[in-house]
Amino acid sequence: MKRRPGRDKATTKSSIHPFRIGIGHDVHRLAAGRKLILGGVRIPFEKGSVGHSDGDALAHAVCDALLGAAALGDIGTHFPDTSPRWHGVSSLRFLRHARKLLKDAGWVIVNADATISLERPKLSPHIPEMRKKLASALGVKLDQISVKAKTGEGVDAVGRGEAIRSEAVVMIALIGFL
Ligand code: MG
Repeated sequence: MKRRPGRDKATTKSSIHPFRIGIGHDVHRLAAGRKLILGGVRIPFEKGSVGHSDGDALAHAVCDALLGAAALGDIGTHFPDTSPRWHGVSSLRFLRHARKLLKDAGWVIVNADATISLERPKLSPHIPEMRKKLASALGVKLDQISVKAKTGEGVDAVGRGEAIRSEAVVMIALIGFL
């Protein structure tokens, strides 16, 4: 039997469309002595992301986009930074959990497209590995995951090297529709 996203009481049959999109955004401060992890990949650099988990801004943006597409809340409600359970964990665990939540609600991931904004270091050599790790955590093929990188052009907190930012959009579809 085809599963339907019926957990939300506000969902009626007429409101169920086979595709949904979601948007996610994340910012982390950068500080010396922290690890820089993006898409589950450790990037060698003198500064890293400040955060309760591993500070993976890319994974967090993708996670929020997934939860948003399915109207399942946000990363803060599922993985509160006050909980010791999520202290220092790999953010790929958030993605695996989000994937399960979506599946339970009747959704499958169609694709994700993300942009990372970081002044330094150059991220292009690490992007293939990030895509691989994200695809694996989300249980999708490599060509369903896109990761792009930009600098901040010397402007604002990203441009000054004080922060990292990431945005993501995803599309999901009803299980059984594709
Ligand atoms: Mg975050």
